Amino acid sequence: MVDIVLLGAPGAGKGTQAELLRDRLSLPSVSSGDLFRAALSERTPLGLRAKAYMDKGELVPDEITVSMVAERISQKDCAAGVIFDGFPRTAGQAEELDNLFDQMQRRVDIVLYVMVSEGVLLRRLAGRWTCRECGAIYHREFSPEKVQGVCDACGGELYQRPDDTPETQKRRIQVYLQQTAPLEAYYRGKGLLVELDGEQEIDVVQGDIVKAIGAVTTGRAC
Ligand code: ADP
Ligand code: ADP
Ligand code: ZN
Repeated sequence: MVDIVLLGAPGAGKGTQAELLRDRLSLPSVSSGDLFRAALSERTPLGLRAKAYMDKGELVPDEITVSMVAERISQKDCAAGVIFDGFPRTAGQAEELDNLFDQMQRRVDIVLYVMVSEGVLLRRLAGRWTCRECGAIYHREFSPEKVQGVCDACGGELYQRPDDTPETQKRRIQVYLQQTAPLEAYYRGKGLLVELDGEQEIDVVQGDIVKAIGAVTTGRAC
């Protein structure tokens, strides 16, 4: 059993690393952004409520986000552990996650803090393309698909997220600095934070992540 949190700014590479880790550890990745986008494409009330915030680059209120994630992690496939990508994003969400996990007799085992400077974040967000079908993540320059516009994994169509406009990108980074960056201190205080250089190549970052997880899981059944 291992429960992992990926922490970092929009564009840091959390989704990319979560995908690789999911395949490696056979654990589900729980991306609150993906859950909101799925709800929106199904036009559920939750998705429609979230859209107004997502379009502006603001955070969806904690109450909505936490209940959605709580529902997801109560599912059977999450019983052996999960990889959180983009959750928690506020102090309130982090505390709620601790409460939820207490009730489930689980705990956050490790927080991987993927550090990337602002200039690099903006370049990454500007070139990000995502598969409409399976959510796989590509970059026009840094991690291109084999056939332009077509997902390598599933053949789905690639699109640029509507919240990846220059104005929204800047706002999301500001929101991150105000509301999410304080979680670094929260998790450092609990002894769970591992800092990673997120500006290295994708595979190198993944190697650092695997080593860090190995260090917390060796010597115990997991
Ligand atoms: P990115 O990969 O660029 O960081 P995400 O896909 O994680 O973006 O999130 C997209 C949007 O979904 C956010 O800008 C926010 O509006 C909403 N969102 C995602 N996760 C959360 C969360 N944990 N709390 C509040 N809002 C969230
Ligand atoms: P996040 O989930 O943190 O918002 P993503 O995983 O969506 O970040 O990555 C943002 C963009 O940067 C994507 O286009 C992705 O292909 C690219 N990317 C991710 N990690 C790296 C890396 N280490 N080097 C270069 N590009 C990267
Ligand atoms: Zn795909």
